[in-house]
Amino acid sequence: MSMRELVVLGTASQAPTRQRNHNGYLLRWDDEVILFDPGEGSQRQMLHTGVTATDLTRICVTHFHGDHCLGLPGMIQRLSLDRVPHPVAVHFPAGGAEYFARLRHASSFYETAELAVEPIDTDGQRITLGIGTLEARRLRHPIETYGYRLVEPDGCRMLPERLAAYGIAGPDTGRLLRDGHLDRDGRRVTRDEVSVTRPGQRFAFVMDTGLCDGVFALAEHADLLVIESTFLESEAALAAEVGHLTAGQAARVAAESGVRTLVLTHFSQRYADPRRFHDEAREHFSGDLVIAEDLQTVQVPPRRVPSPG
Ligand SMILES: [Zn+2]
Repeated sequence: MSMRELVVLGTASQAPTRQRNHNGYLLRWDDEVILFDPGEGSQRQMLHTGVTATDLTRICVTHFHGDHCLGLPGMIQRLSLDRVPHPVAVHFPAGGAEYFARLRHASSFYETAELAVEPIDTDGQRITLGIGTLEARRLRHPIETYGYRLVEPDGCRMLPERLAAYGIAGPDTGRLLRDGHLDRDGRRVTRDEVSVTRPGQRFAFVMDTGLCDGVFALAEHADLLVIESTFLESEAALAAEVGHLTAGQAARVAAESGVRTLVLTHFSQRYADPRRFHDEAREHFSGDLVIAEDLQTVQVPPRRVPSPG
């Protein structure tokens, strides 16, 4: 069984609180372990999760406000300290390259780890991974910001009992899978007759943005959506002004986009009771709803039920 889960390192926007570390998230997805938006203290939070620097394969930064990137110097130096043997890919908005360069070399260290730096400079930019496609979409925030989604393509699962019923075995199975059909005894058997679709899974990560097309493009049919809800509806005007979402807006995006598990996070310290985010979101979204807490793990839900071929 491959592992697909979100590990929450921190959930505070702007400044950490007694209960919440600065923002930070890990996504474990088969052989990829992706660190998103490491704020201050991410390295120490990671110690509590069982994920090590050597596990990391990729780092994605949405934008260069401090709560989304001040953990980079520590994390990057840790890669070298631990002599991580494989290259670690790093993505961030190309317009923030100067910030990245400073954070990368914020202080003196003996650099051994290799970073494969691939900045994002285009809305809709795609990076092909072994597990699917990582796609970046432009968001609406005072500085250049991109959200990310991971899309696994749909697959195909052969049904042994149907193959047997048609007397198909051995190399014929491969031929049918490749060509989409197989001619046997004067009859054509199609792939759809002997297989079901194995729906691909989707993960989306939406930080620091006002409502815009990019938010919906990222959230579309996400099995797991992690999305900022800095504010509540009572501060909707302020949220729009500073380029943030409310819990109500985030929940409506999830409902309209067919999201299955919704994770709200990046909370303003002005709200003491997290229950308020839950109650506001629940008015709009009926699926699995998580009001993120530090060091919480959230499973990617099981695949959607395959449609019979
Ligand atoms: Zn921001």
